[in-house]
Amino acid sequence: MNLDEFEKWAHEFATWAADYHREVRDRPVRPPLAYGTTLAALGTTPPQQPEAMEAIFDDFQRIIVPQMTHWQHPRFFAYFPSNAAPASILAEQLVNAVAAQCMLWQTSPAATELEVRVVDWLAQALGLPAGTSGVIQDSASSSTLTAVLTMRERALNHQGNQTGLSGQPRLRIYCSRHVHSSIDRAIWVAGIGQDNLVKVPTHGPRHAMDPAALQAAIAADRAAGYVPAGVIGCTGGTSVGACDNLSAILPIAQEQGLYSHVDAAWAGSAFICPEYRYLWAGIELADSIVFNPHKWLGAQHDCSVQFLKDPEPQLNTLRLQPEYLKTAGHETAPNFSEWTVPLGRRFRALKLWFLMRAYGIAGLQTMIRNHVTWAENVCAGVRAVPRLEIVTEPILSLFSFACKTDWQTSALLEAINADGRIYLTQSKFQGRLAIRFQAGAWHMQAQDADTAIQVIQEVSQQLRP
Ligand code: PLP
Repeated sequence: MNLDEFEKWAHEFATWAADYHREVRDRPVRPPLAYGTTLAALGTTPPQQPEAMEAIFDDFQRIIVPQMTHWQHPRFFAYFPSNAAPASILAEQLVNAVAAQCMLWQTSPAATELEVRVVDWLAQALGLPAGTSGVIQDSASSSTLTAVLTMRERALNHQGNQTGLSGQPRLRIYCSRHVHSSIDRAIWVAGIGQDNLVKVPTHGPRHAMDPAALQAAIAADRAAGYVPAGVIGCTGGTSVGACDNLSAILPIAQEQGLYSHVDAAWAGSAFICPEYRYLWAGIELADSIVFNPHKWLGAQHDCSVQFLKDPEPQLNTLRLQPEYLKTAGHETAPNFSEWTVPLGRRFRALKLWFLMRAYGIAGLQTMIRNHVTWAENVCAGVRAVPRLEIVTEPILSLFSFACKTDWQTSALLEAINADGRIYLTQSKFQGRLAIRFQAGAWHMQAQDADTAIQVIQEVSQQLRP
């Protein structure tokens, strides 16, 4: 493909992208699921000769698009959103063209400095203390892994990296059972072991970790010869939006000399609105925080921001400087690959810059507030359906509901998703199957909340008693 053809197709694809976003609401949110449908339409051997872009693009529209689950659909109410605001898509188009590898300041001076600036803008927008620094990672899973590695190395006086984990004391890390599975996986990968992730009991309407139980668990572990290493707070857990009382648990971590990390991957976006910040009151005490602008805020996947009160413990855990990575200017400029596990880094700061400039914090606040209001409206609509019960009340824009039995709940979920107008997923709360509803799609409007209520009412009425 020469550059003239590249230009022609880039224009063509831009038109297709605008049409796709305009018309996605007319498609079923999720295709009928039958594994093998796409595979059967694909050639079984790689092409030996070049093919025309016309043919490739035709196949994309014919084979791929109808079998996609449409995450940008306004009635995508499953999981959490993975929003791609149009301005952030445009930024990604430029990033794709420049295709820089942003591992060091020297390999990407503007990208590094823009990253410093947009992370600071975000910290300000969320009301975090002045002086908070941070880095953009690919995922909350990676951000949490780096925090857990930091907990480990800090507790072992950096002997984990040096001599390995065998022969070291057993570390303990504390969290509630509402944390996302990425915390468990980080514990596995860091070599700490599932048995040493202590799931502290929770209580109250926000399903928060019990501070007295946390304190007791730490004391019991010390008495038994374990080495407590860190506390992981949950702000907006995936199942039901659980929020720990950070102003109660982070002081305990601090008094005990433990490193703290807070997973606000989803809920973090909401805290650009000051009225929701009560849900993470005390956050200024956290050593590390992860929040994914690629979820609710609208920065195209992937874009996870890890805020750090002080980057030094993480740098001491991960920084390696072989000769081939030494750079001029290193004394003053951050080399962000030293803050993360992967060396190579995409230019993720650009979409955050475009996003915040194109919509303003005020525009983004309006979106979040609308979603919270619309989720509350849907919750009220579901509450009015005789066969349904609210299982967990809305926390921000997430609530859950169920039928009397798990069997009926499962059948209802299947029937709702087969209908295609909305898409929901399930979770378990206190042993009971529950259907999650979260509002957060970038293109969602008030009418989509009405459609959600209508679909849930209609489908539940058709269900066998
Ligand atoms: N934390 C929470 C609360 C989540 O809901 C999720 C994913 O939905 C994650 C972490 C993992 O996010 P990522 O896919 O960026 O690793």
